[in-house]
Amino acid sequence: MCKVIAIANQKGGVGKTTTAVNLGTGLAAEGKKVLLIDGDPQGSLTISLGYSEPDKLKVSLVDIISRVVNEEDIEEDFAVIKYKENVDLIPSNIELSAVEISLVNTMSRELVLRSYVESVKHNYDYVVIDCMPSLGVMTVNALACADSVLIPVQAAYLSVKGLQQLIKTIYTVKRRLNQKLEIEGILLTMVDSRTNNAKDIVAEVNEVYGQAMPVFPVEIPLSVRAAEISSVAKSIYDYDPKGKAAYAYMSLTKEVLAHGC
Ligand code: ATP
Ligand code: MG
Repeated sequence: MCKVIAIANQKGGVGKTTTAVNLGTGLAAEGKKVLLIDGDPQGSLTISLGYSEPDKLKVSLVDIISRVVNEEDIEEDFAVIKYKENVDLIPSNIELSAVEISLVNTMSRELVLRSYVESVKHNYDYVVIDCMPSLGVMTVNALACADSVLIPVQAAYLSVKGLQQLIKTIYTVKRRLNQKLEIEGILLTMVDSRTNNAKDIVAEVNEVYGQAMPVFPVEIPLSVRAAEISSVAKSIYDYDPKGKAAYAYMSLTKEVLAHGC
């Protein structure tokens, strides 16, 4: 059984990509076979895994989407990069932004990614999709094919604003496109536990949302090391294995594993 987890928040810079890298590689370290899908034309996940010029890649998610739309065959390893043992990557680049527009005129445009993921998920234990910071058609595609959505929320002023809109979209997708969709949990990120502001936001998120949906007990600390991993193309476990952020991401991985499929 494979579980598909979308990592989404339309707010930019909240830790979606950092979480995708470290949850994906964390699950692989626990012996799971993982497919990471970069769902963002910024290509941040692709860059974070060491492919520093995603625009030069010959094939990427955009080619998979075109093939689905044109009802062409897709070989199992098409556009798949073997990143390391147990971790495959489907990269993305700027071309994905054009596909967002072209999908507008496609029949069942919200279900294109699902059609692909359904065809490859038997090869994996987990598929983790890093969404772009918008609630556009690509993010809806990710939500439409996911079993659950993990919502990183930065513990900073104004970060909780906009969460209602995301949650509304999640429930609309659940009603109309994907009944099985669940909220994996809200994950507080970049928590600077020395500041009252961060403590207030953690308390607010638990108070406002904690009854209705899971909020992960583990919080990802603000960490210079975590901020550096994208530029060194390493997971936090390789870059700073004894640091607080590595410990937190490993706890997150264990919680996700404990939630089951
Ligand atoms: P976007 O919306 O642009 O896709 P995102 O939600 O994917 O952004 P990230 O790219 O993961 O967010 O992180 C935003 C910035 O914060 C990056 O520069 C990243 O290195 C940094 N960052 C992520 N996690 C932490 C952390 N725990 N502590 C400090 N900095 C962090
Ligand atoms: Mg990102």
